Amino acid sequence: MAGDVSLTREPVLPPAIGASEMDSLLDRAPCGFISFADNGELRAINATLLDLLGYSRADLVGRHVETILNVGSRIFYQTHLFPLLKLHGRAEEVFLLLRGKNGEDVGALANAVRRERGDEWITDCVLMRVVERRKFEDALLRAKKVAEEASDEAHARRREAEEANELLERQAVELELSQQQLLEQAEELETQSEALRAVNDELVARTDELQRLRTLAEDANRAKSAFLAVMSHELRTPLNAIGGYVQLLEMGIHGPVTDAMSEALGRISRSQRHLLRLINDVLNLARIEAGRVDYDLETFAIPEVVSAVLPMVEPQLTARRLRYTVNVAHDARVYADREKVQQILLNLLSNATKFTPSGGVVSVDAHVNGDRLVSVQVRDSGVGIAPDHLEHVFEPFVQVDVSHTRRAEGTGLGLAISRDLARGMGGDLSAESQVGSGSTFTLTLPRTA
Ligand code: ADP
Repeated sequence: MAGDVSLTREPVLPPAIGASEMDSLLDRAPCGFISFADNGELRAINATLLDLLGYSRADLVGRHVETILNVGSRIFYQTHLFPLLKLHGRAEEVFLLLRGKNGEDVGALANAVRRERGDEWITDCVLMRVVERRKFEDALLRAKKVAEEASDEAHARRREAEEANELLERQAVELELSQQQLLEQAEELETQSEALRAVNDELVARTDELQRLRTLAEDANRAKSAFLAVMSHELRTPLNAIGGYVQLLEMGIHGPVTDAMSEALGRISRSQRHLLRLINDVLNLARIEAGRVDYDLETFAIPEVVSAVLPMVEPQLTARRLRYTVNVAHDARVYADREKVQQILLNLLSNATKFTPSGGVVSVDAHVNGDRLVSVQVRDSGVGIAPDHLEHVFEPFVQVDVSHTRRAEGTGLGLAISRDLARGMGGDLSAESQVGSGSTFTLTLPRTA
């Protein structure tokens, strides 16, 4: 067969790339490339990386590889990357931050191989720029920071919540204690309240009882006054008769009277007068207490009453050699029962005379006491009354010093009657005294213009 033609054809290969073309390709490859020795000295750096970092080849070749790393990556290189390369001869997808000439950082992933070339160890390293990864990392870092802050915040909140909780628990305990105390106090109050109720019931019962006793006493007192009034009246008639017959005997109408008889008649007469006075006083007091006294109220001047009373006591004052002074304001006008005021003043003046030793002084003063009252004071420089007895002298039948009174022939009713009369006219009667210095009795009466 002519032309045995072999059909076998040599494969058509593209023309081989030369070493210099290869270098050029590497120089323009779409990734960075560096070679550096174990001492860090840069042996080669491609144009892509030089462009990226803004260096010229002359700037970097012969310099340390750390020149193109930022501070963090330098440390990483020294502590991790280079030891890794020495140990395993390779490193893959290591993230590095490259430092550009203008100081800007550029993120890159490095794949490196360490080989012996010639008589030294050389590391060839491809660097892939990572823009997105950097963004994500930044975002991640921010997110991490936010998360950390949120965590710190949450921690702080939790702490606050725990503290608030502790506070609440403490307050709850305190509240419980207070509640307990309140309950105890309430119980205590309840107990006291019950006790008070009991006391109150008791008081009410006693008040009722007292009211009943008071009614009884008032009834008894009224009965006593009525009895005394009747008795006094019945006694006065025979006493007056005794007085009359004594006078007839003294006058000798029934025959001559010897001295002894005359003295005996005198005693009878004095006793009769005393008894009559006593009976009159008892009758007066009984009438006052029974509310059977009528007051004939009118307007009059105190000086008039004093002038009317003084002559009645003057003989006694003179007999006992007492000095007396009168100092009565002319505008001292009262609205009262004239006769009863006279009776009171007579009683006060005869007491002052009775209880003042001879040579002493008795005085009567009257003055206006504010808008509503007139005060009349009977003062003496006599024996005085002890403080214990002072208020009791206004009680019926009280005589402080029996020996004195006996001598003075009192009944112990004058002051009781006088105070009742004064009060019956809207006034009062009070006493001040000092033993040995004298007494002052003050009668107050309603003032009128
Ligand atoms: P009596 O008729 O006994 O004088 P009173 O009621 O007038 O009764 O007086 C009561 C008592 O008060 C008297 O017995 C006397 O002890 C005392 N008394 C009254 N006035 C005076 C006075 N001016 N000085 C001292 N004591 C007095």
